[in-house]
Amino acid sequence: MSRLANELVFAFKSRYPIIWIVSSDEERVEDVLKDLATRLWPAPRKIRVWTCVSGFEHTEDTKNPDSALAWIEKASDADIYLLKDFPDWLINNPALQRHLKNLYYHLRKKNTFLVLLTPNIPVPQTLSREVYMIPFDIPDESEITEFLHRFPFNESLKKFIPEMAHAMRGLTFNEIFHLVQRLAQTKKLTPESVLNIIFQEKEQIIRKEGVLEYVPPRWSIEDIGGLDILKDWLRKRAKLFTPEARKKGLPAPKGILIMGISGCGKSLAVKAVSSLWKLPLYRLDMNLVLSGGQGNPEWVFHRALKLVEAVSPAILWFDEIEMGVGRYHETGGEGRSHIFSTFLTWMQERQGDVFIAATANRIHLLPAELLRKGRFDQIFYVDLPSDEERKEIFRIHLRKQQQDPALFDLVGLAAMTKGWTGAEIEQAVINARIEALHEGKPMSMDHLIMAIGQIVPLSKTMEDQIKAIKTWAYDRAMPASSSSRRYR
Ligand code: ATP
Repeated sequence: MSRLANELVFAFKSRYPIIWIVSSDEERVEDVLKDLATRLWPAPRKIRVWTCVSGFEHTEDTKNPDSALAWIEKASDADIYLLKDFPDWLINNPALQRHLKNLYYHLRKKNTFLVLLTPNIPVPQTLSREVYMIPFDIPDESEITEFLHRFPFNESLKKFIPEMAHAMRGLTFNEIFHLVQRLAQTKKLTPESVLNIIFQEKEQIIRKEGVLEYVPPRWSIEDIGGLDILKDWLRKRAKLFTPEARKKGLPAPKGILIMGISGCGKSLAVKAVSSLWKLPLYRLDMNLVLSGGQGNPEWVFHRALKLVEAVSPAILWFDEIEMGVGRYHETGGEGRSHIFSTFLTWMQERQGDVFIAATANRIHLLPAELLRKGRFDQIFYVDLPSDEERKEIFRIHLRKQQQDPALFDLVGLAAMTKGWTGAEIEQAVINARIEALHEGKPMSMDHLIMAIGQIVPLSKTMEDQIKAIKTWAYDRAMPASSSSRRYR
C-alpha cells in the first residue's frame, strides 16, 4: 500500500471526519480514494467530488462553498466527499471556518468523511485540532520505482530504473509523468542523458518554489585565498556523502556556520563546497520567506525544508541566517519565533542527507540555542586576511582578470592593503584593469596603486564593529585561517 493510502486508512479508522491533503497530484489522490472506498468498508462508498466550478455532481446551487457544506450536512449516505481547492475559500473567512468546525461534530456521529485537497495551503489555526493532515505528498523512492515499472521503457532504460528513481526523488507524480513523456520522445537516450534531463527538471522545480535558488557549481576551492583551516576541514569531508561512505556507515557531516567580517569569503567558501563535494547547492532566501509574498512564512519555510530534504543529498545555504532565525525572532512577532523553532526541530530530525551551510555577519543577533554544541559540526570565524593571504587573493584575482601575477609586486600590494577584505582587493584589481583598458595600455603596478588609493576599506569605517566581531568570536568559533589563530 502506498504511503498516501496508509495515511488515509489510519485517518478513516481513527474516524477523523475531515482530512486535509496537501498534494498537487489530484488524479492520484482520487485514484487512491476510489480504491479504498471499494474495499475498506463492507458496503462500497461513493466518492463525491466538489469543485467551485461544477459544485457537487453539477448541482448548480452547491457551487458556493457554504452551500456545499450544507449539502453534505443534509446528505443521508455515508459517502466520501472530496473537495478540491476548498482550503482556498477558508483563508480569511472565519464564518466558513466555523461552518466546517460545526460540520466536524455533525459528521463524527455519521461516519462520513470529508477530504479537502490543496496543493499548498496550511490548516488554519482554528481548525488545527479537528483536521487530520496528510502533508506534502511527494512519492518516495519505492513508489517512484513502482510507477516507472508500469511505463513501457525499452530494455536498456528498464535496467536503469533504480538510478532514475533515485534521481527523481523530490518530484511529484505529475512531474514524473511529464518527465517520462519527455524521455519517451527523446532519441538515443543514454544513462547520462537521462540523468541530465532529470536534473534539468529538478532545477525547474526549485525555481518554481520561489524562495529557493539553485547555485551552479562555478566556484572551486582554489578560488579562495587563505582560510587554510576551513579549506582543510572541507577537503577532509569531501568523500563523506558518496555511496561508498554510506555503505561503510560513515556519518555525513550535518552543517557548518561561517561567521565573520563581510567580504572576506564566507559566501565564496559555501559556493566552493558544492563543487568540492559534488552536491547541488540551494540558497534559501529568508528575506523572501519572511516577506509573506510567497504565502504564510512558516508554511513556506517548512515546505522549502521539506523540498530540499526530498531532493537530497544536497547543501542548503542559509545566507545571513541571523535575518531569519536570529534574535529578530524576539521582536518580529509570532511567525519568526515559530520559524526559529521549526528550524531547530528540523535540524534535529531532518531526514535525507542535507548539509546546512549557514553564513552570518551580525553574530550578536544569533540566539545561543543555535550555537549550542552539536547543532553544527563546526562554527568558523572568518577574519580579515593576513599579509600572506592578501598576496594569495591578489594572485587569484589577477589571474581572473587575465593578468600574469609574476609581473606584479605582490609583497608591495599586500603591504598597501593592510586591513582590506578579499572583496575590496577584487574590486581594486577590476578597477585597475578598467583603467588600463581605458588608457589602451597593459595593466601595470601603477594602475593597481592608483585603484588602491581610491578605495576606503571597510576596516577603516567600521573599526568598532570589526573589533566587536573579533571579541565575540574569540571563544565561540574556530578561526578559518591559521594566521588568525596566531594572533589570538
Ligand atoms: P557578505 O557577508 O557581505 O556576504 P562574504 O564574506 O560572504 O560577504 P563573499 O561574498 O564571499 O564575502 O566575497 C565577495 C567576493 O570577494 C567574492 O566573490 C570573491 O570574489 C572576493 N573574495 C572575498 N574573500 C576572498 C578570498 N578569501 N579569496 C578570494 N576572493 C575573495
